[in-house]
Amino acid sequence: GADVARNRIGIFGSTGSIGVSTLDVLARHPDRFSVEVLVAHSRVEPLFEQIKRFRPAVVGLVDADRRAALEERLASLPAVHRPAVVVGQAAVDELAGEASLDTVVAAVVGTAGLGSTWKALAAGKRVLLANKESLVAAGELMLDVARRAGATLLPIDSEHNAIFQCLPADEAAVVGRGGLVSDSREIERLVLTASGGPFRERPLADFADITPEQACAHPNWSMGRKISVDSATMMNKGLEVIEAARLFGVSADRIEVLVHPESVIHSMVRFVDGSVIAELGEPDMRTPIAHALAWPERIESGVAPLDFGALAGLHFESPDPERFPALRLAFEALAAGGAMPLVLNAANEVAVGAFLERRIGFMDIPAALEAAMAHFVGDAAIGAPMSVEAVLAADDQVRDWTAAWCRSRHGTMAA
Ligand code: NAD
Ligand code: MG
Repeated sequence: GADVARNRIGIFGSTGSIGVSTLDVLARHPDRFSVEVLVAHSRVEPLFEQIKRFRPAVVGLVDADRRAALEERLASLPAVHRPAVVVGQAAVDELAGEASLDTVVAAVVGTAGLGSTWKALAAGKRVLLANKESLVAAGELMLDVARRAGATLLPIDSEHNAIFQCLPADEAAVVGRGGLVSDSREIERLVLTASGGPFRERPLADFADITPEQACAHPNWSMGRKISVDSATMMNKGLEVIEAARLFGVSADRIEVLVHPESVIHSMVRFVDGSVIAELGEPDMRTPIAHALAWPERIESGVAPLDFGALAGLHFESPDPERFPALRLAFEALAAGGAMPLVLNAANEVAVGAFLERRIGFMDIPAALEAAMAHFVGDAAIGAPMSVEAVLAADDQVRDWTAAWCRSRHGTMAA
């Protein structure tokens, strides 16, 4: 029957923005996909609603303190619809390697997603990667394990998905298997587009007053809080430059960032003959998610067709280095190599958290990144971590240092 052919999906970070968009696409294709595993950190209510609707066999809840609340909700379901419950980070991460899964959607936010993403790649799964931070922190290690295990790594970050779609089919197949396009004689450069975030036109003199609410109000995309702040500082584009360098195996000088406020062109590839191929559409994550779910086929995503008549125009400009120092720091971290991207990413997670809790100001975020990079540049102990454990240990070390930096900064913030 149809069941045999259904692709069995696990969503790690199902209650988040990407997780919810993924379920929206899956709900349109019950004949094609089955939801086997759902994982959330602690929010029981939205997780329970998803369980009722999608009937996974297993659910993972990272926060053990919320177990009783979840079990209580599950008790109201008929026994046949009650999933097995797995609790705690390590046990939940193990689920990503379960034989009952064909595809893992890596939609956890931050380096916290490294464990599950790693397990899925090591088990040779098809991995749909939203969790860019793990690729920035663990880089080559992750691609190595993907290649060795025969995993398929497909980007759902919209820019990388767009670039993937612009590649010639044979190149795309190589990338999907963990290969690189660096040897391509046809591809000149990758062009990552950026919306410029909510503060593209705000006078630089007013940046110090930016609040978390303002930073989380993105003009084009509706996203989780961490990535919304990253978009406002343009650190998101910085992480994406490193993500593109890793995924496609190109050096920093072959990656260009172009501000395009309408977010209609999701990214582009320049070829040596002068051709530029772009992927366009409504800014809605269901498009890249549907693309990666069905690749190399195509399925309906629920996204409205792009209405060219409604577009006032497409605009382009260079990113302003004074407003967005984080972007320069990302290029520097990529050029420095080794653990510098990991340092940048870990410092950023801590600084963004401190900003969201109003403990540091908006422009303290890039200041924290710069300070952390300067501090760890000569630190042999951090070196270039050669295992997941070493990556996580280095990540912890940078977090501790940056947290202390933020505390010292807090004392200087005006009351
Ligand atoms: P979000 O904050 O909305 O959701 C995060 C999810 O991760 C939640 O389901 C949460 O329960 C789960 N989670 C948090 N900590 C966890 C842990 N330790 N273990 C397991 N699960 C945990 O975030 P989001 O906006 O959906 O972003 C998720 C990832 O996708 C990020 O890496 C982000 O950069 C990337 N991304 C997001 C978008 C977007 O449009 N939202 C676009 C491109 C890439
Ligand atoms: Mg993106």
